[in-house]
Amino acid sequence: MLSVEEARGQILGRVRVLEVERVDLMAALGRVLADPVVSTREIPPWPNSSMDGYAIRAADAEPGATLRIVGRVEAGAVPARALQAGEAMRIFTGAPLPAGADAVVPQEDVDTSDSQVALRGAVEPAAFVRPAGEDVRVGDTVLPAGVRLGPAEIGLLATLGHAQVSVRRRPRVAVLSTGNELADLGVEPGPGQIPNTNTYSLMAQVLEAGGEPLSLGVARDRLEDITARLDRAAGADVLVSSAGVSVGDLDLVREALTRVGAELHLWKVSMRPGKPITFGSLRDRAVFGLPGNPVSAMVTFELFVRPALLAMMGCRHLDRPRIRARALEPMRNPGERRGYLRVVLSADGDGFGARLTGEQGSAILRSMVAADGLAVLDPGAVVMAGDAVEVVVLKALNG
Ligand code: AMP
Ligand code: MG
Repeated sequence: MLSVEEARGQILGRVRVLEVERVDLMAALGRVLADPVVSTREIPPWPNSSMDGYAIRAADAEPGATLRIVGRVEAGAVPARALQAGEAMRIFTGAPLPAGADAVVPQEDVDTSDSQVALRGAVEPAAFVRPAGEDVRVGDTVLPAGVRLGPAEIGLLATLGHAQVSVRRRPRVAVLSTGNELADLGVEPGPGQIPNTNTYSLMAQVLEAGGEPLSLGVARDRLEDITARLDRAAGADVLVSSAGVSVGDLDLVREALTRVGAELHLWKVSMRPGKPITFGSLRDRAVFGLPGNPVSAMVTFELFVRPALLAMMGCRHLDRPRIRARALEPMRNPGERRGYLRVVLSADGDGFGARLTGEQGSAILRSMVAADGLAVLDPGAVVMAGDAVEVVVLKALNG
């Protein structure tokens, strides 16, 4: 049996990075930048005021000094002339500093008459001045290739004049559920049937990872049905099936994959939930056969499919953040396999505490709803309350 790291290594070693496409800036949110962005602009382009007040020469600012107001500069305008000794210019936030000035006195710190401004004390040079280039300099690499674009990156790209951005194509991911017992959404489950969960949780995971999901529906546990549906995934970059991947008589996914021409690279991974998971190649497509239990399907997607999709998008960070939390109750992982236990995280002093979501059965989907993360336990590990435990963080924390 492979370790999680070995399996992951094999998978990441075989996925290919997708092509680059140009998209409009707002369509680039959540996408992965294909090339580094180097600034051709200075931001801000010139020294400007961070307050409404008066541009002055700091050297003129002795207590009791009175300066002559020689003009006015608003944001969007340029100063009519340079400032001489003994002069001040009315200035507003964001307006360019006149040449000769080196500081701004906020309007609430002066006494003014029609033509004069009286200072109340000394003024430091550069006070309330935002220097040219304090944010970005020409030639700065402001974003490296492989970053996922969020609102701040989008704003920065706009600042630098990028109406379009080069990003990696989103992987198209076909999702197949298999099982005679499954009734798809919209169909009332008949006797002996259960609702199809995995198609939807997995497609949602694909979307959240940045891929484009496509459903291949539910295949019955018959080779012809599975292969016929797999054949429909022609346009996909990745194929993800769930269930039918173990050793039962009706576990036909591996055989079906082989029949349609896939080469299977791995099968069992030493982990719980999970274990039976298939990864293979079907021409230039990556195929994953995930286990059927809803929690196992989601956790194996997290550990193997998600990093593969991110790698295909050229992402530099493939992993969720991991933290060390304090166990708030005992946790055990009997047996020979690495355990991924669903935990709730809560702010706890200067860190986080972790408690189990409750029963850890791999069919208990509500444990995934409750879980903020997965505590990673070595085979046989016994963690006592108060011990540190490593947690893969799945959700935003409100600590
Ligand atoms: P299998 O690997 O086919 O033996 O499936 C393992 C368990 O997962 C069984 O209890 C199945 O009924 C369940 N299961 C398989 N596929 C799904 C699905 N798409 N949605 C919900 N449960 C499923
Ligand atoms: Mg089955």
